[in-house]
Amino acid sequence: MAKQTRLGKTDLHVNPIGLGTNAVGGHNLYPNLDEEAGKELVRTALQNGINFLDTAFIYGPERSEELIGEVLKETGNRSDIVLATKGAHKFVGEDVVFDNSPAFLKQAVEGSLKRLQTDYIDVFYIHFPDENTPKDEAVAALKQLKDEGKIRAIGVSNFSIDQLKEANKDGYVDVYQGEYNLLQREAEKELLPYTTEHSISFIPYFPLASGLLAGKYTKDMVFNDLRAKMPHFQGEAFAQNLEKVEQIRKIADAKHTEVAHVVLAWYLTRDSIDAIIPGAKRAEQVLDNLKTLDVHLTDEETKEIDRLFS
Ligand code: NAP
Repeated sequence: MAKQTRLGKTDLHVNPIGLGTNAVGGHNLYPNLDEEAGKELVRTALQNGINFLDTAFIYGPERSEELIGEVLKETGNRSDIVLATKGAHKFVGEDVVFDNSPAFLKQAVEGSLKRLQTDYIDVFYIHFPDENTPKDEAVAALKQLKDEGKIRAIGVSNFSIDQLKEANKDGYVDVYQGEYNLLQREAEKELLPYTTEHSISFIPYFPLASGLLAGKYTKDMVFNDLRAKMPHFQGEAFAQNLEKVEQIRKIADAKHTEVAHVVLAWYLTRDSIDAIIPGAKRAEQVLDNLKTLDVHLTDEETKEIDRLFS
């Protein structure tokens, strides 16, 4: 069993390599997903020591949580798993809006509990900020759910630094999830220092920049999913990003490992990043990402990667 790490100031302990599951039943994000393959990659993760699963209401919508619930029922080891999910998306007819109101968050948690077939959620994140709800009031609703034992840790995601500060007025925020990877380092300015100072665990999403930092793409690749619109995947920027990835390949080759593992290991050298949740579409990728645990970057290598992407 891999060494477990504690998430910030919570009493949750996880393998630092978790699993992001937006491609498990996330039909609204990726076309033609095979649900059985999705369940298989969750099983593979659990059988190989991964105990930190990240999902959300909106992946599917609902389907990712349902499939994970089915796997957890089947494996019967709920108490070994640190299960994180998120809510804030509300369907109003065909439109989706964000809602952080206490009433909606309580309803969202109840919905997630049902789909996940469990009676508690380890980390519940407010997935996105809304415009109206004071953030400390939204978090107070989650604190109440925590006191009732329905959730074990309070998370917020995609909040600006000011929203995070407001949310954490009473010191209740345990985990922050935000976009952070070698190509998107904005969080280093204020969010990472704030989370470090307040013992909030920072979970970076898109750690592999949706696959770009896994070192396997070539200039001529065409994407027909959510990546088609992402800035890192456009024209000249895409070409330049691939060149930087080639620089990491040199470091990876010298260590007899692969680009993805060096990239993922680098995040774990950052203060307040206790764990990462790379996504996967196939069980082999889950196993592959676990090899990150064998990579030990020297200070010099860590700084070199920092320089390459700064
Ligand atoms: P990611 O982790 O940056 O990239 C995952 C993709 O990289 C995989 O789907 C796979 O895509 C490729 N990949 C993974 N392992 C690989 C390996 N070993 N070798 C080669 N390619 C590999 O992006 P993500 O999955 O979108 O983000 C991670 C998780 O963060 C999500 O699953 C979700 O749980 C969470 N998330 C949260 C938010 C939020 O708003 N809070 C937003 C986005 C994501 P291909 O096989 O197609 O190349």
